[in-house]
Amino acid sequence: MIPFNKPPVVGTELAYMKQAMDSGKLCGDGGFTKRCEEWMEKRFDCPKVQLTPSCTASLEMAAILINIKPGDEVIMPSFTFVSTSNAFVLRGATIVFVDIRPDTMNIDETKIEAAITERTRAIVPVHYAGVACEMDTIMAIAEKHNLFVIEDAAQGVMSTYKGRALGTIGHIGAYSFHETKNYSSGGEGGATLVNDKSLINRAEVIREKGTNRSQFFRGQVDKYTWRDIGSSYLMSDLQAAYLWAQLEEAEKINERRLLLWQRYYDALTPLAQAGKLALPIVPEGLKHNAHMFYIKLKDVEQRTEFNDYMKSHGILTVFHYVALHTSPAGEEFGRFDGEDRYTTSESDRLVRLPMFYNMTDEEQQTVIDTIKAFFA
Ligand SMILES: *Cc1c(COP(=O)(O)O)cnc(C)c1O
Repeated sequence: MIPFNKPPVVGTELAYMKQAMDSGKLCGDGGFTKRCEEWMEKRFDCPKVQLTPSCTASLEMAAILINIKPGDEVIMPSFTFVSTSNAFVLRGATIVFVDIRPDTMNIDETKIEAAITERTRAIVPVHYAGVACEMDTIMAIAEKHNLFVIEDAAQGVMSTYKGRALGTIGHIGAYSFHETKNYSSGGEGGATLVNDKSLINRAEVIREKGTNRSQFFRGQVDKYTWRDIGSSYLMSDLQAAYLWAQLEEAEKINERRLLLWQRYYDALTPLAQAGKLALPIVPEGLKHNAHMFYIKLKDVEQRTEFNDYMKSHGILTVFHYVALHTSPAGEEFGRFDGEDRYTTSESDRLVRLPMFYNMTDEEQQTVIDTIKAFFA
C-alpha cells in the first residue's frame, strides 16, 4: 500500500529528544523551543515566533489577541480546514465566507471588499497547498478598512510571496507542524508568528495562561500574576527537539518535496494537454513549498471512480475540503457572501496524490503509472 502521507523523518529526531530528556527540563520554552523559535525568526524575518501545541491553538491565540467579540465578523474562504473558522467562532464571531479563485483555490481577493460590513474585524487568508494568496491586495483592503489580517499559513512553511515568507505578512500568522505538513514536531504542533510588534507582549501573556510568567523568567518582574485571559499554548520541549531535527534539514526537505512535485507535474503534463485532468497553477512571483500535489478531474463522479481505482491498486488518494458553508456548523456560524461560483464545484473535482518527504522514487513512479493506466 502507498499511503497518502507518512510523517517526515530525517533521522536525528531521537538523538535530540534524548538530549531534551537529559537536560532535565521538558516543559515549554526550553532549549529546543528557543532554538526553533530563533531559527524561524531569522530565516523568515519575523519579530516574534512562538511554538504552540498546534496551528489550531495559534489561530485561537490570534482570535484572543485581536479581541474578537460576539457579533464580530471575520472574512475567510469556505474552502479550508475547520480550525480556520472554529478559532473565531469560539470567541463568538460570525464567519463570512467568500468564494475562491479557481486557479490557486485561495480566497478571491476581488470578492473581499463587497463582504465587508461595519462589524468586520479581520480577514483570514489561507495559503492553500503552500501557494500564497494575493497578499498585496489583501493588505491594502485591510489597511483601508482598518482590519486585522491573520494568515493561516498552516501549509505555507518555507513558501514566499514576492520574497516574503508566508505567515510574516499579516498582523499574525499561524504555522502547523502536524505530521501531514512539511515539517513536524512529532505529530502535533504549531507556531504563532506575531508580526505586529505592538501585539508581542500580550501574545506572551495569552500563551502563558494569562500570566506574565515569560517576563518573570526573563527577570523583568519579581513575581508573576494573572493579567489577562489566556490558555496553555506552549509546546513541550520534547516536541521542539523533534522539530529542531527537521528545521536543521529544512532546505533538504524542501528540495526533495519540490523535486517530487515537479516530477508529478512533468509526468502528468501530457494528460493535462490531452484535456484529461487539470494541474495545479502557481502564479508568478511566488515560491511554493510543494506542500501538496493535487489534480482536478471532470467532476465528483469521476473523482470517486479515480479514488476507487487507485485504492484497488494499493494507492491512497484523498479529497478535501467539504466547503465549510455547506456543513452543519458552517450553516449555523457563518454565511456565504456573494455567489458560490467555484468553492463547491472546484473542491468536488480536486484530489490529492500521495506526497511526503520519505516517499521513494519507485513509489512515485507506481502512482504515476497507475494514474496513466486509469486514463488509458
Ligand atoms: C493543518 C491545517 C490546520 C490545522 O493545523 P493543526 O496543527 O493540525 O491544528 C489549519 N488550517 C489549515 C489550512 C491546515 O491545513
